[in-house]
Amino acid sequence: MIDRYSRQVLFPGIGTEGQRKLSNSCVVIIGCGALGTIIATSLVRAGIGKVRIIDRDFIEYHNLQRQALFDEDDIRNGLPKAVAAERHLKKVNSSVEIEGIVADVNYTNIERLVRDVDIILDGLDNFETRGLINDTSLKHKIPWIYGGAISSSGMTMNIIPGQTPCLRCINPEVPNRARIRTCETAGVISPAPFIIGSLQSVEAMKILVGAEEINRQLIVIDVWRGKFNRFEINRRADCPTCQGEYEFLEGKHSTKTTSLCGQNAVQVTNPKVREISFETLAAQLKRIGEVSYNEFMLRFTADAHEMVVFPDGRAIVKNTNDESLARGLYAKYIGI
Ligand SMILES: [Zn+2]
Repeated sequence: MIDRYSRQVLFPGIGTEGQRKLSNSCVVIIGCGALGTIIATSLVRAGIGKVRIIDRDFIEYHNLQRQALFDEDDIRNGLPKAVAAERHLKKVNSSVEIEGIVADVNYTNIERLVRDVDIILDGLDNFETRGLINDTSLKHKIPWIYGGAISSSGMTMNIIPGQTPCLRCINPEVPNRARIRTCETAGVISPAPFIIGSLQSVEAMKILVGAEEINRQLIVIDVWRGKFNRFEINRRADCPTCQGEYEFLEGKHSTKTTSLCGQNAVQVTNPKVREISFETLAAQLKRIGEVSYNEFMLRFTADAHEMVVFPDGRAIVKNTNDESLARGLYAKYIGI
């Protein structure tokens, strides 16, 4: 095992002691898209003791342009991202405990999913779940590393409870969803998330080994224009989260439908549904459309719509960004 990490141990910032700290650490990566695959690859190769990867989605061809861990076989096998990531990374480093969890992170489950970790890494594409991470981080005093990428640009910042400003100090208002730029409307080129994911990985390593060089600024890059900037952020005196008001964790900002970044699709969650029998559902749906399923998901096509249903009752309605249409189709085919 020492030989596996020999080049990393030679680096003075890590050393033998740092390597030991990494191997005793546990991290969670929430969201396994472009950022998440880069972070997961870096940290599993670096020998972090436990890596938990949480993602709600499955893999599609347009993901392969920038989601570095996946391949065409994963799509043919209908694998969710968290499952494919776990399988690939276990072949890379069998000494790391890797746990892929297919789940939608929300205010009812996030505290349970991150309770035992040393750092939370953000590989997300939406503000709502980042708000939840921010609340959970400050409430439980777990550092988190914010990261986002879109088009040719990206940004990242470390949020260390009690030491740095939080995400809501930067974004005091919860953004109106209709006005957020997404990968769907703006596109994205892979070097932007690759660099941001790499910066998040190195910050995680620095925090875990207790390095002094931890970044305390907001880093903003544009890979197309070759711009790399750092901004000093101040804690806002009126920030609700810094004052212990955890609005996201209380479910104040939760929704039942979410537009998925870059996918022309809407996710519908129904908190009343805990478990779905694919066998029963498929028997009902095959009378009105095409149905196929495996243990991870059920795919259903009817009219011009395609829907993927997960065992926890979530569905992703494809070929639309209209949340009310998606909710209607869910009600029509699955039931609410
Ligand atoms: Zn704050």
